[in-house]
Amino acid sequence: MGVPRLFVDAPLAAGAPVRLERQQAHYLVHVMRVAAGGIVFLFNGSDGEWQARLGGGRNPELVPETLHRAQAEEPGPILLAAPIKRSRLEWLVEKAVELGVARLVPVLTERTVVRPESADRLRVKAIEAAEQCGRLTVPELDEPRPLLAAVDAIGRDTLVAFADEAGDAPPLLELLEREAGVGALLVGPEGGFAPAERKALRGHPAVRPVSLGPTILRAETAALYASTVWAAVAVRRAADPARAARSASMPVAGTGGDSR
Ligand code: SAM
Repeated sequence: MGVPRLFVDAPLAAGAPVRLERQQAHYLVHVMRVAAGGIVFLFNGSDGEWQARLGGGRNPELVPETLHRAQAEEPGPILLAAPIKRSRLEWLVEKAVELGVARLVPVLTERTVVRPESADRLRVKAIEAAEQCGRLTVPELDEPRPLLAAVDAIGRDTLVAFADEAGDAPPLLELLEREAGVGALLVGPEGGFAPAERKALRGHPAVRPVSLGPTILRAETAALYASTVWAAVAVRRAADPARAARSASMPVAGTGGDSR
């Protein structure tokens, strides 16, 4: 078993002890079998990842010793998704964290039938996933908000790729290669978007409709597909900026250069 990683809600600095919550101490001592003097990696989303040593006693503390990884940007997309059933949503949160999603915004749509989960409960899942996958940050989890208010709140400079199953939109991959400004992905509920919502989305200046292929994906599959394609393009863009710049100068097929 590797060195355990723990997210803590405390500043991290050499020699400054970090008090553990009861479940964290239980996890380290009884599940991971870390003995007093054992090594644990700590991160808090802002101070990097620290190698720390576990103290002894009934309420053990962790003392950071050395900076193991400096804090780095983890640029990921904002995922706007209509609520889905709890078991599927928890699975989606785990996978979204692994794929680098930076923020998850539950959106309430006309056909949303599932009551949204509390952000606190989902945050526990997000933290577990971040600890397990090696991320240095835990994505933000917003409280649910109405669809168009959520899109409006994304910000003027960020384009939203709207997964539109109608079939006439350009592929997501094409849009992402063309438009570096796409920073948010929008996926609808199991029943799809209502016609008035689709019309409003297509008319919104920050929204770009995209296709995720010829089959109708379940909502969580669509969210995962979109996050995966976004991550793949980001990795390639970082590895080969010259190629990314060339793709960005080519028009998106079937749109005459306007990706809407
Ligand atoms: N009930 C809808 C229908 O039959 O048209 C299907 C909705 S689908 C299960 C849930 C969401 O996933 C959609 O609102 C859309 O955002 C996304 N989605 C699924 N398949 C897609 C595709 N092939 N292209 C674009 N978006 C897709």
